[in-house]
Amino acid sequence: MKRLNLLGKTVSDFEDIMRSLGEKPYRGRQVFKWLYRDMQSDFNLMSNLAMTLRRRLDERYEFIGLHPTRHAVSSDDTEKFLFRLDDGALIETVLIPEGDKRTVCISSQAGCALGCAFCATGKMGFTRNLTAGEIVGQLLYLRSRDGQEAFHNIVFMGMGEPLLNYDEMVRAVDIISSEIGLSVSAKKITVSTVGVVPGIYRLADSGLKVNLAISLHVADEEKRKKIIPIAKKYGIKELTEAVRYFARKRRKRVTFEYVLMGGFNDAQNDALMLARMITGIPCKINLIAYNPVPGLPYRRPTDDEVDRFAQWLYPRAPAVTVRKSRGMDIEAACGQLAGKYV
Ligand code: SAH
Ligand code: SF4
Repeated sequence: MKRLNLLGKTVSDFEDIMRSLGEKPYRGRQVFKWLYRDMQSDFNLMSNLAMTLRRRLDERYEFIGLHPTRHAVSSDDTEKFLFRLDDGALIETVLIPEGDKRTVCISSQAGCALGCAFCATGKMGFTRNLTAGEIVGQLLYLRSRDGQEAFHNIVFMGMGEPLLNYDEMVRAVDIISSEIGLSVSAKKITVSTVGVVPGIYRLADSGLKVNLAISLHVADEEKRKKIIPIAKKYGIKELTEAVRYFARKRRKRVTFEYVLMGGFNDAQNDALMLARMITGIPCKINLIAYNPVPGLPYRRPTDDEVDRFAQWLYPRAPAVTVRKSRGMDIEAACGQLAGKYV
């Protein structure tokens, strides 16, 4: 009999499994903790379970994680991992050291259906949604390699649009933030969206305490539509309304990501429109210099141009940060993930 892989099952799934085996639900919590927190995937070694239960679990189930097929290290110590999933789909994960903390950038889909004009993932098209197990598997691999301190912050900024894989993203966050799971507080998790408005409302109304980042990139409606196809469906007004709702409901500042593309969205007028657009929204702005993607026409602005743009925003915009590009030499920087090396 083929054993069922439990990777991606939540606490309540484990409780159900135990009920189906005629056991008390709290046994499910014990197994959940062994697998995700203690990283013990051998049922026979789960010392607080009866031998008979260990054997029954071992007959029916297994817990198989992800293992990278390629691994690259940048000159700035950023690391990129390529995972080949069971069906051959490829995804990437990026680990970014920042001082003594590490941020891991995870994928929520293989590819992306939204086709933004500046993004390597968008260019490759959509393969499929990841399961919660495949999302959590990226993190468990790093924990198995580097231990508890493998990472401190988690950003859904790898491949894919997390709000278009909402249910599996939520299941993954549930496992990640559980104290008997990966035990990373939801406050340390950021979900990034290019502006899937219904998903923003859903997230605002959910109990999840995750942070929200919006990939805005242009404040002008017509210009935004040119580079972000989904902006034709959800305009700036609807997007800002959804963001205001989220900020109010969750009492949280939202981050606007703004990729500066030389000659396209980096003029003073672009900064003024952006400042106007965010007036009254509790937020911060994160400026990112466009990272080159082979075959795309945009120019990476110089550091001076990025600083100049930041100065135009200040003091109208409450908080502006500039994101340093990391891992560019191994195509691990924002927007460069395309599941290559095959
Ligand atoms: N789909 C979501 C999550 C992916 S995040 C989203 O778009 O928000 C990927 C981040 O990298 C986004 O902020 C995206 O706009 C940014 N990005 C995409 N292409 C880029 C590029 N070539 N240079 C810099 N950032 C880029
Ligand atoms: Fe998809 Fe985000 Fe890339 Fe747009 S920027 S194609 S939404 S991954």
